[in-house]
Amino acid sequence: MRREPETELKDTIHARLQSRFELDQVTGCWIYVGAWADDGRGMIRVGGKKYSVAKVSAWLFEGIDLNDDCYVYHDPRRCRAPACWNPHHLRIADRATAFAHLRRHGLWGNSLIDRSTADYMRLQATTMPEREIAEYHDVNERLVGSVLSRRTWAS
Ligand SMILES: [Zn+2]
Repeated sequence: MRREPETELKDTIHARLQSRFELDQVTGCWIYVGAWADDGRGMIRVGGKKYSVAKVSAWLFEGIDLNDDCYVYHDPRRCRAPACWNPHHLRIADRATAFAHLRRHGLWGNSLIDRSTADYMRLQATTMPEREIAEYHDVNERLVGSVLSRRTWAS
C-alpha cells in the first residue's frame, strides 16, 4: 500500500534529525548537531525551505502545518537549548503569547525582536540610557544591551 507523500517526507526528515542528534543526559534535550542559525537555533531544510528544528519537531509530533505562523518555542522551565527538538520541551503559541511567556521568565530569543524594533532601539540609544529604552519597549535591559552590542540583529 502506498503511503501519503507527507508521511514519507516526515519519515525522511525525522531520520535526518535523528542522524544529527545528541541526547543531553542532564536536561533531556535532544540537541540537533547539524546547521545552526547565529542565535543557536538548529535549522533544517524541508522541501527546499529552512525551518527551526523546534518548528519541524512540532510538525512531526504535534501535527502543526509548517507554514502556520504559530510560534514554536522552548519552554523556559524545561529547556534552555535553542537547538533542542525534544517535543516535550516545546510550546506552541501565537507570537504574542510566546513573547509574553518568555518575557515573564526574563528570556528572549533573537527572533522575538524584529529588525525594525532593533533599529529603533539603536536610534534611541543615541539620546537615551539603556534603562529608558528597556522601559519604552517593555523589555529587560539585558535584551537592549544585546541589541545595542549587535549580538542580536548583527546586520
Ligand atoms: Zn530541550
